[in-house]
Amino acid sequence: RNDQRLFRSILILVPVYSPMTTLLVRHAQLLVTMDNQRREIRDGGLFIRDGFIEHVGASDGLPTVADETLDLSGHLLLPGLINTHHHFYQTLTRAVPAAQDANLFNWLKTLYPIWARMTPDDIYVSTQTALAELALSGCTAASDHLYLFPNGSRLDDEIRAGREIGVRLHASRGSMSLGESKGGLPPDSVVEDEETILRDSQRLIETYHDPNPGSMTQVVLAPCSPFSVTADLMRQSATLAREYGIRLHTHLAETQDEEAFCLEMVGHRPVAYMELLNWVGPDVWFAHSVHVNQEEIGLYAQTGCSVTHCPTSNMRLASGIAPILDMLQAGVKVGLGVDGSASNDGSNLLEEARQAMMVARLRAGLMGASRSGAQTPPLMSARQALEIATRGSASVLGREDIGSLEAGKCADFFAINLNHLEFTGALHDPLAAVVFCSPVHADYTVVAGKYIVKECQLTTIDQSNLVALHNQAARRLLNAP
Ligand code: ZN
Repeated sequence: RNDQRLFRSILILVPVYSPMTTLLVRHAQLLVTMDNQRREIRDGGLFIRDGFIEHVGASDGLPTVADETLDLSGHLLLPGLINTHHHFYQTLTRAVPAAQDANLFNWLKTLYPIWARMTPDDIYVSTQTALAELALSGCTAASDHLYLFPNGSRLDDEIRAGREIGVRLHASRGSMSLGESKGGLPPDSVVEDEETILRDSQRLIETYHDPNPGSMTQVVLAPCSPFSVTADLMRQSATLAREYGIRLHTHLAETQDEEAFCLEMVGHRPVAYMELLNWVGPDVWFAHSVHVNQEEIGLYAQTGCSVTHCPTSNMRLASGIAPILDMLQAGVKVGLGVDGSASNDGSNLLEEARQAMMVARLRAGLMGASRSGAQTPPLMSARQALEIATRGSASVLGREDIGSLEAGKCADFFAINLNHLEFTGALHDPLAAVVFCSPVHADYTVVAGKYIVKECQLTTIDQSNLVALHNQAARRLLNAP
């Protein structure tokens, strides 16, 4: 009992006596702010106090004394990238042979039975793997969508793992309630009953959701997709989320199969179905939105719905190319997502920005070719791609405290050493270099003023141990009877 008392008093004392800490970051070859003026500052730096930015600007104008100093000579300094759609658990099922060359519905039907064998430990280790990969690619905040909870798994397992890594986490309490026997796609064994889902959702919001500036953990309600969830659960999830002021997320308009499913099951296209269910508004964001027309894009803009663009997954599953520039032009908020690791099969967010730029250009080329005599539509720039991955993603998650490097915002950033073979010949424009050239890992990734990656190494976890544990878990999952 004495031990318990001592432990409790330590818990109480730590926050009271933890000293104010300052971090001075200076001499970045180029600092990209992504602020309202999109300032790019040569020989730039930041002065950080207790996890928030106090000053941004030229190095010679910053305070000169701090608890710790980081010299970023020869580095590019960028706001932390923000991932707005993922399924961390899928790191356990990358490149599964039977799902390698399948489209969405066949891919899902192959993987559901494997995922049904996951345990709480699998959720924990896969979360750490995905977040470690993301952090190494410059990501400082991520949203995850966990929608099956087999064998006692809970969202708590993911949140615990995320807190240990130290990346900001928007954990979605996903759900599936429309099994095969009711006309849905997933087998009945992986769906839950609606009462259980809603009760657990409420518990998670009350236990973990922190809406304050600097928040490390937020909870999102995220029924999985039109073909795996009942209309009733969609409506009730929206009601519950709005009672607590939290955000709503789902997959929408990802494939033509989904569109056909919706037309047959409910007599509406996916977006019209969402409107019917009261699933439009500034608190709603959709993953994918590949198959949307101009009218539907207009509805997103008018109602404030936002979109996560997942270009690699859309190519991997042959889903199509989302009309991202049309959405941006219409005023729709767009963020970036790597999507689950069984359809990417990686969690490199910087690479994803590059893919977003490339596939937008492919679409522009295809459209230009189809309009005889017309000029090619505008091409997405490297700066636009990075803006989607930073400011855009922050707005998708409803956060004003991250997404740019400005006084008062969270001290979330990453830095890349420009002295790389990959960047040779492109150093006249370092920002363009990191998007156009082959992606490299971050040298530093910092969340709330704390290192997650330092000198190319993860600081909050032992990487080789993680790889061993993860491979062990994946082998067990794939080889189980
Ligand atoms: Zn997804």
